[in-house]
Amino acid sequence: MNEFPQHIGLDEARALARGVAAARTLPVERIALDASYGRVLAEDLHAPHAQPPFANSAMDGFALHGAELPTDGERTFRLAGEVFAGAVVVPTVEAGCCVRITTGAPLPPGADTVVIKENVRVDGDEVRIPAGQRAGANVRPAGEDFAAGDAALAAGTPLRAAQVAVLAAFGVAEVAVRRAARVALFSTGDELAPPGAALGFGQIRDSNRPMLAALLREAGAGIVHSAHLRDERDTLRERLRAAARDVDLIVTSGGVSAGEADHLPGLVRELGRIHFWKVRIKPGMPVLFGEIGGTPIFALPGNPVSCAATFLALVRPTLDALCGRRAAPPRLHARLAEAVHKSHARAEGLRCTLASDADGALWARPHARQGSAMLRGLAAADALALIPEQARELAAGSVVEVLPLPGWTD
Ligand code: AMP
Ligand code: MG
Repeated sequence: MNEFPQHIGLDEARALARGVAAARTLPVERIALDASYGRVLAEDLHAPHAQPPFANSAMDGFALHGAELPTDGERTFRLAGEVFAGAVVVPTVEAGCCVRITTGAPLPPGADTVVIKENVRVDGDEVRIPAGQRAGANVRPAGEDFAAGDAALAAGTPLRAAQVAVLAAFGVAEVAVRRAARVALFSTGDELAPPGAALGFGQIRDSNRPMLAALLREAGAGIVHSAHLRDERDTLRERLRAAARDVDLIVTSGGVSAGEADHLPGLVRELGRIHFWKVRIKPGMPVLFGEIGGTPIFALPGNPVSCAATFLALVRPTLDALCGRRAAPPRLHARLAEAVHKSHARAEGLRCTLASDADGALWARPHARQGSAMLRGLAAADALALIPEQARELAAGSVVEVLPLPGWTD
């Protein structure tokens, strides 16, 4: 029986679990850029060339030599050709001449300025340009965005749409990323009716497993085992042991408290070791983190809100660490729209609705019904407002950290 911390604070629990995960960062694989969305970049990217690679026009207009622009009245330039985006033959701009140019076309030799088409009058091959134009305007110099060799993306960056665009802009077709986490997901409980069967007396549906599957998907993980297991010690032992051999993380729901049918703590201790059990948070206090055969395991409480809250507060950051994600996502704060009274010493995650006001402040309005078994409030919530441990009474307007539920801005 190993010694392990109990009743630790949320920050300590998160740091412990992230530390265990960071020592088991997933291996690197090379995949097609098209498949890389949602993965974590495994290597620094240095710009292999300047971006843009050549000086080009930022607008549709006329390219000319800026020193020739009139300082008053207007001046007539001779139209000496055109250059469109993608052109391979580019006319030179001689003195007194200009060239019609489109956005993204290479700036012709001799030109350093583009006057937008809306500001000129064209009459045959005469282009009249009024005073008031700025020399050097509307040109994007080579390397304006990235110089060749610039640090462009750092290892550990999650690949979202903009990062995929940067890779594509540099012609990267295959990218080194961390392998997606392979997860085994088990819901436990004799009261859970199998899908399709009528609800017998005392039975409920298994809502945690589909919920956790969705949360895991949001986190970019792949689920390789998913099952409902009865509260039978031998079955649980066998399934946990087998899963530990071929996944990167095991997540379970239910059976982690101190009841007679709560087998998870005893089994994790028997098959491996517990890193912590019970965290000073509400909901979700019984959450356990350990490992079996070197594979990390989170045993989450069965109450649906506890299950979601512990996933967001602990499992998600741990998955991010497994995937080599460099920085934790920024912490978000909001003001409480109502006073909060807390009757216990634990930190509490209140289901709340977020709204920003015209002054740019974000307000968190806690929902009236906060039962940890109540899905209604979870489905209506944008975030959990985190009421700190020591706080008992918080006035309306107090600033608290908020943990957004995935997709709250959609
Ligand atoms: P437990 O953590 O096993 O003591 O379960 C706590 C509460 O959560 C009980 O009311 C269970 O019926 C309920 N529960 C457990 N597992 C699930 C599940 N997969 N889906 C919905 N509710 C559950
Ligand atoms: Mg149970």
